[in-house]
Amino acid sequence: MRLRSLRLAGFKSFVHPTTLNFKQDLTAVVGPNGCGKSNVIDAIRWVMGESSARQLRGEAMSDVIFAGTVNKKPIGQASVELHFENTFGKLGGAYNAYTELSIRRQVSRDGRSDYFLNGTRCRRRDITDIFLGTGLGPRSYAVIEQGMINRLVEAKPDDLRVFLEEAAGVSRYQARRRETQQH
Ligand code: ATP
Ligand code: MG
Repeated sequence: MRLRSLRLAGFKSFVHPTTLNFKQDLTAVVGPNGCGKSNVIDAIRWVMGESSARQLRGEAMSDVIFAGTVNKKPIGQASVELHFENTFGKLGGAYNAYTELSIRRQVSRDGRSDYFLNGTRCRRRDITDIFLGTGLGPRSYAVIEQGMINRLVEAKPDDLRVFLEEAAGVSRYQARRRETQQH
């Protein structure tokens, strides 16, 4: 799977619509402290379905919406769109037939959050299903942040197992089994 581009509008410090294109195999985001590097990572996690505001360094989900600066008023909505290629054919279920996919999430100040898959509104679950077992996803090891290597090295066996199961591609089936057992 390869990320092609990310479009942010009203997300954290990215008040103006901004598109980042990932043309190479390796992209480095560099810049001075506070310029928005981590906000880009937050956006990638958020659009893939992260539902914990704390994981995104905020207190409420509306904290991802541009909150205003001395010169600019706050705005009412944030939206992020992630465009990616299904390079190795590992996507969940019916989505594997697609060679390219775009997911979009938007949230407004009243807390309303909507997801779109290739432009059509869908559920959060439809989005998270795509990534289960692929190594990508809101909490996956594909996004390695500060302190994560330490956490992995020091992780309890049960926590470590979650990562191994994701790498082995079995987490998708476990999610299904849990769901079946609940019904
Ligand atoms: P560092 O190098 O210190 O890790 P960084 O480039 O990762 O910095 P970020 O944490 O991505 O920086 O960005 C921090 C900036 O984003 C701060 O200036 C903060 O005010 C701004 N910011 C975060 N959330 C919002 C928001 N909701 N509205 C407006 N600005 C925001
Ligand atoms: Mg940072």
